[in-house]
Amino acid sequence: MNERPILIAGGGIGGLSVALALARKGRRVRVLEKAPEFGEIGYGIQMGPNVSRMLDRLGVLKALEPHSVFPDALILVDALDNREVTRIALGGKFRERYQYRYFVIHRRDLHGEILEACRRHEEITLEASRGLVAFEERANSVVVRCENGAEYEGAALIGADGLWSPTRAAIVNDGAPRVAGHVTYRGVVPTAEIIDRSHLDSMTIWIGPDLHLVQYRLRGGTVMNNVATVSSRRFRRGEKSFGGWDELEEVFARADPRVRDMLRYFARDRNWVLHDRDPVTNWSRGRVTLLGDAAHPTLQYLAQGANMAIEDGVVLAEKVAAAGDDYGRAFLAYQRERMNRTARVVLSSRFFGEYFHVDGGARELRNELARGRDPDTPWEADWLYRGIEVDSRL
Ligand SMILES: Cc1cc2nc3c(=O)[nH]c(=O)nc-3n(C[C@H](O)[C@H](O)[C@H](O)COP(=O)(O)OP(=O)(O)OC[C@H]3O[C@@H](n4cnc5c(N)ncnc54)[C@H](O)[C@@H]3O)c2cc1C
Repeated sequence: MNERPILIAGGGIGGLSVALALARKGRRVRVLEKAPEFGEIGYGIQMGPNVSRMLDRLGVLKALEPHSVFPDALILVDALDNREVTRIALGGKFRERYQYRYFVIHRRDLHGEILEACRRHEEITLEASRGLVAFEERANSVVVRCENGAEYEGAALIGADGLWSPTRAAIVNDGAPRVAGHVTYRGVVPTAEIIDRSHLDSMTIWIGPDLHLVQYRLRGGTVMNNVATVSSRRFRRGEKSFGGWDELEEVFARADPRVRDMLRYFARDRNWVLHDRDPVTNWSRGRVTLLGDAAHPTLQYLAQGANMAIEDGVVLAEKVAAAGDDYGRAFLAYQRERMNRTARVVLSSRFFGEYFHVDGGARELRNELARGRDPDTPWEADWLYRGIEVDSRL
């Protein structure tokens, strides 16, 4: 094994997961995080059964359970009339089929437990305030230069540095990510403040023309996580400024008053302009590769971006171990295995954005077809939730 550590740029959910996966395979790693502290934003995140399986392999699933909420169903409600369209039952049959549960969790609890697991591994070194600005590939190593001038020589480099990854810019060089024209607002409020209490135990998505709103509880059910997204008409018209709160209210004006009323749960001062990228086939070069949003950023409509980053980490560690630290070979094998699955997530997420946001005849057809389904039949994410085969010895 190489004496030098594997360098990981980025200590988000993806960077920490691959650090843990590699350490569990006996590799030394050094995580270089740009922010002054390792952390996550204060909102919720959904985890499918496919990633529960990976978190179990990484030895953190049990520690996450006390922080998790397990919704009893994923419900789609038409936002225009507030009538249920369909539901996917997440109970016994779902668990039987996929062997693992669907859960939701506060991002800080998820990131925090993975971080704690990393801290317990002596093979992992974590350094904050170390934003990668450049790297250089040498015959047997990679040298990374950070914003503060520090330099690190490693056996290989994994760019887990997110949507705006400088590592990607050097390897793939495909410009800025694609602006989807969708804008998201978030809000977390005490559950006691929720007025319509008919969906407290589920993960519910109100879907309507150019909009959707997601709601689920976190932290023992004490707080409600709210996510509202609009597809901007101003963006479609080519206007430079789009996605402000006024536009959100304008798009929600057609929604049922009970749905419109939910906008009170949101913070107005911050929004997220959503991006993704067309799938590529060249995110590995020699001793350098990408992972998570740096490799295959996706819209969140299948709630799988972080799920994919964690799956990436497990697969990457396996390939490194299997290739006997021939990084060039390991990274190509990792890319090959991850390429189509992550591309399918990116492209299916775009489709679900359309599916949620349709109007007129398309809305009528969507609702009729969805209303005919049985809550226990596997839906279009079956291929995803079945998960991936990994080495059980990790
Ligand atoms: C509204 C919304 C809802 C979502 N919901 C879900 C969901 O329910 N389920 C799900 O699975 N996914 C969801 N996602 C997607 C998910 O948040 C991302 O896919 C996931 O965070 C990607 O993890 P990552 O570690 O690859 O990147 P990031 O989380 O972006 O982490 C990158 C890290 O790298 C650091 N960094 C950046 N530049 C540098 C540099 N130059 N050098 C060193 N460090 C650097 C950053 O500070 C950060 O810590 C959602 C996304 C959005 C926008």
